[in-house]
Amino acid sequence: MKSLLLIWVIFLLLLGCEHTPTKSQSVESVEGPGGTDEANAQRSREILYATLWMQHSAEYRAAALQAFEGARAQLKTATKCGTAEAGQLQQSKGTCGAKSPWAKRPAAIIFDLDETLLDNSAYQAFQIKQRELYDDDRWEIWVKSEEALAIAGAVDFVKDASKAARIYYVTNRECRKPIDKVKDELKLRADCPQLLDTMSRMEKLGFPKAKDRSAFYLKGMYADLQSKEAIRQKIATKHRIAMLVGDNLKDFVESQAVYADNEAKLAPLWGKRWFIIPNPAYGSWPDVLSADADQEVSEACSHLATKKEKDYCAYRPEYEARMNKLKVWFPLE
Ligand SMILES: [Mg+2]
Repeated sequence: MKSLLLIWVIFLLLLGCEHTPTKSQSVESVEGPGGTDEANAQRSREILYATLWMQHSAEYRAAALQAFEGARAQLKTATKCGTAEAGQLQQSKGTCGAKSPWAKRPAAIIFDLDETLLDNSAYQAFQIKQRELYDDDRWEIWVKSEEALAIAGAVDFVKDASKAARIYYVTNRECRKPIDKVKDELKLRADCPQLLDTMSRMEKLGFPKAKDRSAFYLKGMYADLQSKEAIRQKIATKHRIAMLVGDNLKDFVESQAVYADNEAKLAPLWGKRWFIIPNPAYGSWPDVLSADADQEVSEACSHLATKKEKDYCAYRPEYEARMNKLKVWFPLE
């Protein structure tokens, strides 16, 4: 499977993501576990333009360089104790006089990985070519392939950041099991292959601290840290959070609702303490297309045990809601 993936990735990198259906790839309404081949093809095709932009536009590269350059310009101010603007991460707030607890804490900068430091657009191109959806097992093969690229400007900025603060990589790349107490390499490989593969790739790309396991927080890596917000709060117990860099609102706040409720207070952090890298391919924003299916999904799928089962179950009502919404917004006849 890995070799197949690599062949496709190399092919797609050479050709961009030209989309030329063949007879064998023709769209058919075949029932799959979560929907139909037609539905899968539709969903994968939706990331075509975003993937083209990420792989071929000078503007995407420029936007990333601009974000990291802006962050670099703020490094000194953001990591200096006592000069932070008030934000959600209140540990950065306040004076840093001799009696202040903040004075004793080192500054920390937290980075998301995918589509913040690592460019996975080749995996997206593979999805389009294969007319398939994101899949956890396929993603793990992609991570193992170590084909992700560094986003423009990322390596140089993280190197600079590591000289000014303690850096952490907080990512939704996932461990199969928590590895809090795992020391044995074989067990570590079995329980969290994505950690080792990610560290290896990041080391080859030149990111600092890539060999330091304590710099990484993957999803499910620690049993008691089940969200990025929980991880940030954990890091904040021993650091002043100086800067956050991500591609999704949840790299900065617990939820969109929290941000919306506090936007007046939080928005001034953009460009000063918070830096966002554009990601046109995925995130929570496309959910607006399937929001109408929430009740149907709940009724049909809430009894299922695992997230994977629920995701498959939700696929059909979400797909139908998306199609209905698109028909209203973009009627073709
Ligand atoms: Mg990300």
